[in-house]
Amino acid sequence: MDQNEPSAFIAAANAALVDSLPFADATDFDDAARGLLGRLEPGVVQNAEGQAVWDADAYAFITGEAPASVNPSLWRQSQLAAQQGLYEVVEGLYQVRGLDLSNMTVVEGDTGVIVIDPLISTETASAALDLYRRHRGDRPVVAVIYTHSHVDHFGGVFGVASQADVDAGRVEVIAPEGFTEHAVAENVYAGTAMARRAGYMYGAALAKGPRGQVGAGLGQTTSKGEVGLIVPTVDIRETGQTRTVDGVEIEFQMAPGTEAPAEMHFYFPRFRALCMAENATHTQHNLLTLRGALVRDPHMWSTYLTEAIELFGSRTDVAFASHHWPTWGGDRVVAYLATQRDLYAYLHDQTLRLLNQGHTGTEIAEMIELPPTLTRAWRTRGYYGSVSHNVKAIYQRYMGWFDGNPARLWPHPPAAIAQRYVDAIGGLDRVVELAQTAYDTGDYRWAATLLDHAIFTDEHHAAARALYADTLEQLSYGSENGIWRKLLPLRGDRAA
Ligand SMILES: [Zn+2]
Repeated sequence: MDQNEPSAFIAAANAALVDSLPFADATDFDDAARGLLGRLEPGVVQNAEGQAVWDADAYAFITGEAPASVNPSLWRQSQLAAQQGLYEVVEGLYQVRGLDLSNMTVVEGDTGVIVIDPLISTETASAALDLYRRHRGDRPVVAVIYTHSHVDHFGGVFGVASQADVDAGRVEVIAPEGFTEHAVAENVYAGTAMARRAGYMYGAALAKGPRGQVGAGLGQTTSKGEVGLIVPTVDIRETGQTRTVDGVEIEFQMAPGTEAPAEMHFYFPRFRALCMAENATHTQHNLLTLRGALVRDPHMWSTYLTEAIELFGSRTDVAFASHHWPTWGGDRVVAYLATQRDLYAYLHDQTLRLLNQGHTGTEIAEMIELPPTLTRAWRTRGYYGSVSHNVKAIYQRYMGWFDGNPARLWPHPPAAIAQRYVDAIGGLDRVVELAQTAYDTGDYRWAATLLDHAIFTDEHHAAARALYADTLEQLSYGSENGIWRKLLPLRGDRAA
C-alpha cells in the first residue's frame, strides 16, 4: 500500500512545534558528540549465520531539517540517539553508544575492566567490547554490573563474559537485590504477551525512513540477537554500601521501585562520575511501558532523584546513564537531575490533585500541562513516555481500571460493542463516511475511534481498512513519541 503525504493539519502542527521549542540550543549535540574515539564501521552487527542483528547505518537518513512526515522534536531526538561509537566520558571511563537500544559502559580498573549493562544481545555486546578494545587495548573483563532488571541491561552478558569465568571467580556479577527475581518475573509470567507487544512497541521489524521508523526515543530500536543471563554473584542491598572492584571504589544508592523494581545508582569517587542507571535519561520515561508492566511509582522515583542529588551532587563532575549521552559539569548535573525529579513529582502530584477532584485518567491526561521550565527542557519531552499515557498510568496505579461511572462497569467487550455502534450509526458504509469526514477535517482521533468499531465489526471491509491505515499514518506523522509513531501505523496496514 502506498504511503500518503502528511496532511496540511499535520504539517502545520509539526511546523508550529519548531517555533515553540529551543532548537537553536546545541548543548545536547555537543554532549552527544563529546569524547568520540571511533565508530563501528560499517555500523552493522551480524550473528553467526550472517544475519544483521543491528544496523546503525539504517538511520543515516536522519540528517538536516525534519521532513513534514516526522515530528521535528522526535527527528531531533533521533539525530542524537542514532549516533554510534566509543566515547570517552572521562579518562578511564568509556561508553559504547548506538550499538543497541541501551549503552554499555566500560570502567578501567587496575588489571581489567568493569562492564556496566552489556546490552540486549550477545552479538552487540561482543561488538561493543571489541570496539572498546580496538581503541583501549585488550583488557580482560573482571566484573559486570547490572544497573537494573530489564533485558536491555543484561541480555548480552555472554558477549562479555562466560558462565565458566564467573564460576571460576574470574568475573564477578554485581546487581541490586531482587534483580533475578524481577528479571524473571517481568520477562516470564506475562512474557509471551509482553514480548509480542514489545515487537510492536520498538518496531524492530518496521522499515526505517522518513515515513517509517525513525527511533524509539530512548534509543533507536532493539537488537535481534541471542539473549542470555548470568545470575549475579554479588547483591547490593543498602544505600551507602561501598565495594572496591579491581581497585575501583564504587558507592551505591538503592533505587527500588522506580524505572524497574530492582534498580540502583552508583558513584565512582576516582572519576567523580555518577551512574544514574535508567532513572535520569534525556527523555520523559514511562510510568507504564506500552509493552505492558506493573505501573511504576513516580513518587518514589522523584524521591530517589532528590536523594541522589543530596548524596552525590556536590561531588559529581559527570553523570551518565545506560541510555543517551552524559551530562558534564557539577551545576549542570544537579540541574539535570532536578528537572527529572520535578517532572515525575509534578505528574504524580497533579494527577492526584485532579483525581481527588473527581476527574478520571483520560480526562486528566488532557488537562495537565507541564510548567514552561519542563515543557521547554528537551530531556522531559515525551519521546518514550508521554504525559498522556503516564497520567493514565498514575490514575491506574491509585484507582485501577474502573473510573467510577456505572455505565462503564460492565460494558460489552469490543467486538460486541462495535457491532452495536455500527448498527446504531446505520451500517459500515455510513461509519466509514463519517470517519472520512473526520479525516478530512483533521480529527484523526475520532476517525480512529469510528474505524476501530468498523474493523471490529468486519475486519475485511476494504474501505474501512484503507481509511484506518491512512488515519493512523497521519497520527504517526504528527507524534513526538517514538513509540506512538510505531504503534499507530502498526494497527493499520503499514507494517513493512
Ligand atoms: Zn533500558
